[in-house]
Amino acid sequence: MVVKSDISNFSPVLSRTLTAQINFPPTVDTDPRTTFITNENAGYRDGVALGNYINININDKITGSFRNRVISDPLFMHEYGHTFDSRIYGMSYLLAIGVPSIFSADKSSGISGEPSKVSTHSFYWTEMRANRHAKKYFGNHYNVDWNSPLEDYYYVFENGVWVKRYYTLEILNPTKRR
Ligand SMILES: [Zn+2]
Repeated sequence: MVVKSDISNFSPVLSRTLTAQINFPPTVDTDPRTTFITNENAGYRDGVALGNYINININDKITGSFRNRVISDPLFMHEYGHTFDSRIYGMSYLLAIGVPSIFSADKSSGISGEPSKVSTHSFYWTEMRANRHAKKYFGNHYNVDWNSPLEDYYYVFENGVWVKRYYTLEILNPTKRR
């Protein structure tokens, strides 16, 4: 099911709007600056940000508030980060950011020493710019810590044993090279 939600500041009013659009007659948003169009149960996870529109595909369904989903899901925060450049670049966003980003994603590959969810695309300049915007925005407004452990984890082989490591936003959505 495709759910559409206009949000700008993830206020409770706006998260209610999303719920309303899933289950109840839609209500009117107060500040429809950014529109998330979330495709639930897509069978894959990815996202595209263009202008003030963000299209996100997820494997699951959003439970709880939309706001909580945004500030706990690295993909939502990353795509929101792109909207800052969309405003900064204006009409040139598509050529300056959008097209290079799509090419980078297309030829992306894994990196030795990085967990499986991190690819060359993760470190592409357009992506790290989006991550820096997101880190600043969600840190300032929602106390999101880019270096806190997430629930998601991976294993690394160290000194002959597999060691469990938790992803952080910085690992998944890098703001700088490492
Ligand atoms: Zn991106």
